[in-house]
Amino acid sequence: MSQNQEETLSGYLESQANLVQEASEALPHQFSQCTYPLGPLRQALYLCLTCPEARGICSACSISCHTDHEQIELFPKRSFCCDCPTQAIAHPCSLHTTLEVVNVSNTYGQNFNGLFCRCHRTYDANKEREAMIQCLACEDWFHESCCNLRERPPSRESSPEHKDQDEASKGPEDDAQSTTSSSGLPPPLIGPSDYDSFVCTECVSKSPILRRWAGTPGCLMVIRDSPSSPWRVLCGDPEDKNETLEVVAGTKRPSSPSLPEETDLERPRLSPSASASIQCLAPPPNPIAQRILSDGNPVMDPDTSLGFCDIFLTEGFRNRWCHCDTCGPLLAQYLSVEEETYEPPEDPDSGLSLEELGMRALSRLPRERAIDGIHAFNSMRDDLKNYLRPFAEQGKVVNEADVKSFFESLMERKTSA
Ligand SMILES: [Zn+2]
Ligand SMILES: [Zn+2]
Ligand SMILES: [Zn+2]
Ligand SMILES: [Zn+2]
Ligand SMILES: [Zn+2]
Ligand SMILES: [Zn+2]
Repeated sequence: MSQNQEETLSGYLESQANLVQEASEALPHQFSQCTYPLGPLRQALYLCLTCPEARGICSACSISCHTDHEQIELFPKRSFCCDCPTQAIAHPCSLHTTLEVVNVSNTYGQNFNGLFCRCHRTYDANKEREAMIQCLACEDWFHESCCNLRERPPSRESSPEHKDQDEASKGPEDDAQSTTSSSGLPPPLIGPSDYDSFVCTECVSKSPILRRWAGTPGCLMVIRDSPSSPWRVLCGDPEDKNETLEVVAGTKRPSSPSLPEETDLERPRLSPSASASIQCLAPPPNPIAQRILSDGNPVMDPDTSLGFCDIFLTEGFRNRWCHCDTCGPLLAQYLSVEEETYEPPEDPDSGLSLEELGMRALSRLPRERAIDGIHAFNSMRDDLKNYLRPFAEQGKVVNEADVKSFFESLMERKTSA
């Protein structure tokens, strides 16, 4: 065995060990069980682009059943049952092998057709430059620029050919950064650390609570004062000159906040003890937000619109809602309780050999890397087993020279292949 071969061999073994290590770190959870038997759950879902059906599969199925298929992650969707083991997807499930009937309680929005945001674009993780924001209510995803948080990055508007030129003309530094969502772009008007949850215009317009609170403290909106003005954050700050002016010029602020305004007096008061909760704590409606909402059309003309009624809920928002007799019953579950998202159980890796760990890690490593890794690892392991079997059968001791000779033959085959 030459010096050169030895180096190649140790490099090969090292790369295998690194791959195993990398795989186990990237995937610290067990992915051996489809979530189907657990019933509807809020869980991370994947859309398989290779399979023709517009359905959702759980993370275990994404790794185990659709390994060599092209997929995009849809991130958590509430109350969803994995479709992989059902008749809705022709490709067989390798984890839950009983063929189940089609799920009837799942809801399938445009994401299941690979479309996202109010602009209904497809998503390509490699080409998308800006971050996307998930709506707490409908769980669709929105571009920052589509929420007026930033200018639309130029590459998104150009054709694929132009895009390549854009990429090529950038420095290597830009290129490296372009894989992360918002990098290379100026910060958005409202950054990820400025708010906790986002609700899109369409969902706000359906919620009486959110309509009422929009543009008040802790329920930020992005608006502009005229079609030629820059976008700014509407935060219900009484010091905000623009908002104060608006109050003076626009409709007068109702003196006592109530929702809806007239029914307060008509509502029967049940008992003295209940009256304690009747005091409504909702803030006075923000007149700018109310005017935008009263325009009626949630998706407005981008050239003339003064803003969407998207709202950015700041930290602690779940504790700030009013629970009076009027507001309480209108409060949607997702506004008051942080929903749990299912996570596969932690992997009890302790006590496994490197090979077991490696095989398990590799068997759940997604996409091409897994295929290459599994093939390389499997063939090496199988070959080594076959090579060593006679030694075991004859009770012979395997010495260093035997192992070396095995790897020599392996390397020869690799180079001739
Ligand atoms: Zn599944
Ligand atoms: Zn598939
Ligand atoms: Zn499956
Ligand atoms: Zn968009
Ligand atoms: Zn929404
Ligand atoms: Zn109230």
